[in-house]
Amino acid sequence: MIRRIEGEPATGFQDMGLSKAMLGALAAARYVKPSPIQAAFIPEALEGRDVIGQAKTGTGKTAAFGIPIIEMLEERGRGPQAIILAPTRELTQQIVVEIKKLAVGRDVVVCGTFGGEPIERQIRVIQRGVDIIVGTPGRVLDHIQRRTLFLGDIVHVVLDEADRMLDIGFRPDIERILRHTPQPRQTLLLSATISADVRKLAQRYMYQAVEVNLSQDEPLVSTIQQFYVSVPHDRKIELLQHLLKRDRPRQCIVFTRTKRGADRLAERLQRAFPGVSTIHGDLSQSVRDRVMKGFREGRIPVLVATDVVGRGIDVENISHVINYDIPDDAENYVHRIGRTGRMGKDGIAYLFVGPDQGEPLTAIENLINKVIPAHEVEGFSAPRPRSPQSARELFNTAVTRSPSLASR
Ligand code: AMP
Repeated sequence: MIRRIEGEPATGFQDMGLSKAMLGALAAARYVKPSPIQAAFIPEALEGRDVIGQAKTGTGKTAAFGIPIIEMLEERGRGPQAIILAPTRELTQQIVVEIKKLAVGRDVVVCGTFGGEPIERQIRVIQRGVDIIVGTPGRVLDHIQRRTLFLGDIVHVVLDEADRMLDIGFRPDIERILRHTPQPRQTLLLSATISADVRKLAQRYMYQAVEVNLSQDEPLVSTIQQFYVSVPHDRKIELLQHLLKRDRPRQCIVFTRTKRGADRLAERLQRAFPGVSTIHGDLSQSVRDRVMKGFREGRIPVLVATDVVGRGIDVENISHVINYDIPDDAENYVHRIGRTGRMGKDGIAYLFVGPDQGEPLTAIENLINKVIPAHEVEGFSAPRPRSPQSARELFNTAVTRSPSLASR
């Protein structure tokens, strides 16, 4: 049975019956008011129910499951009481940071486990005793096979970004892990989209789940202003430098299609913009950690990234996302631009489009069901990209000259 809850219940953190310690942690984190997903999700989860939440990264979904889990923890046993599965190492690390923030001042041990780092170190941490383990499915299975993680005390399971985990092909791993957890347990599932596959997983492994389906999710996305800029391929770097100088982003992610492209672009940018860094899957975990730390702390103003690594990044201060290379897959565009406009902050997303890239532009517009306006940059007038079955011909394409964030 799925009971749907639509709309935003009028609830503050004070009305949720949270502990003093939790209210203190929320005050210290300066979370004044629950986000819509939190307002709807937390009370249901605190009742011990299985809950499905449709929410993207940036909506406060980590605290939506983190707060109730921390509140429901009991005395530490042999193994963790909660296991959170997430698709990438970066997301895993972000969840650990957020949970630590919410558990501040309490004796709660949270540990992240993921590939790319020696498992032995993670084993030692786990053996010292943990309450909450956050991991990628592959690494968690590795622990199960080595018998280095005892799941017999698990009461809460979270499947975070379930749609992405299924996309990446983690279904068999997730199912194997779920079969190792005892019953009864509470299963919480978060997903940006509730596809047929996600629903199948929920039906199979969740019990009388409540679905929290928020239309209020949307305004967060619409705080992002989106523009495309037509540019010949050989002038993209020049355009990028121009935009960085003109807009002076608080923080910016530049997306490229390939790892080599990311390296090359970062190298060329570094001459004019010190502090530019790059992140992609070929870098070692320790380098990636260092870069992410620098970016999170604001020391890196411009980060050049590829899709796989870049799209999981959650840094509140990002004001600009620049799609330097148009994404191969229209869905990646949605993930990329979701890096800005976090928690209702505004952001700008530029999409560089070459003269021959009308078709991928139209594919993106069809997916987001919206025409992306052109942004004309002086000195960079390129022929409008051509698209055979252009949806844009049906609309009057607005041309803007100065997005309102540009002067910041
Ligand atoms: P998430 O969707 O979990 O990735 O969260 C996005 C960002 O919002 C994170 O940086 C959180 O620290 C922050 N955040 C979560 N809940 C709140 C809240 N109630 N008020 C303000 N910021 C929040």
